[in-house]
Amino acid sequence: MEAAAEPGNLAGVRHIVLVLSGKGGVGKSTVSTELALALRHTGQKVGILDVDLCGPSVPRMLGMQGCAVHQCDSGWVPVFVDQEQTLALMSVGFLLETPDEAVVWRGPKKNALIKQFVSDVAWGELDFLVVDTPPGTSDEHLSTVEALRPYGPLGAVLVTTPQAVSVGDVRRELTFCRKTGLQVIGVVENMSGFVCPHCEECTNIFSTGGGEELARHAGVPFLGSVPLDPQLARSLEGGRDFMQEFPKSPAFPALT
Ligand code: ADP
Repeated sequence: MEAAAEPGNLAGVRHIVLVLSGKGGVGKSTVSTELALALRHTGQKVGILDVDLCGPSVPRMLGMQGCAVHQCDSGWVPVFVDQEQTLALMSVGFLLETPDEAVVWRGPKKNALIKQFVSDVAWGELDFLVVDTPPGTSDEHLSTVEALRPYGPLGAVLVTTPQAVSVGDVRRELTFCRKTGLQVIGVVENMSGFVCPHCEECTNIFSTGGGEELARHAGVPFLGSVPLDPQLARSLEGGRDFMQEFPKSPAFPALT
């Protein structure tokens, strides 16, 4: 029997989307952040749950590094990115004393924190909760899926780079999704070509199309290719909203 949703947890969340990637550095947090911003730009109320315990980068990408979370009667209050409170964020980054502090924990402690993140954050009403997961398919992923499952069907967006090795990782992610009952929303190919900062032309440095081919083979939707864009990197580094800053960038259509 499914556990009943307690107030102050995810009872008011309509859709949950996990963002997964086979390895680190392929742009999972970037896609999580931009997906949340894109949804917010369409008028949705969005939350981001950053369970990438060993590399929590979403606070920096949203310019929220150094913020603290507070407790209320129903749990932790997430950090709101905007005054209108349309984008909320919870991350282990907010629980560390300094940004450089490392989470050196064994599995059970990490899994306990993930469960606490799922049960104890007072999200209120949200249209979407985007969950940025650690790279790979680990114990932490299983804990995340198990903790979230009672709150409805879970969707997954898989992020890959065009290279064969990363695409191979995504194959394993697809197996994980099938075994754990995650509904694959689709595959995003990130770092697909390079956008010249001068003429904005996109050049394919590596192979291209791996993500699309993989999606076709696996029978799941291909959501788009995001080129390597120095403007996107700078926006993320500065914690700014790329979509507002550079609405004409070639990376923009794929991210939205
Ligand atoms: P992951 O979450 O998979 O470890 P990140 O999203 O943190 O990867 O991305 C790794 C680095 O690459 C970050 O510094 C980010 O700003 C940069 N990056 C990711 N995707 C792009 C892109 N399409 N264009 C430019 N920089 C990118």
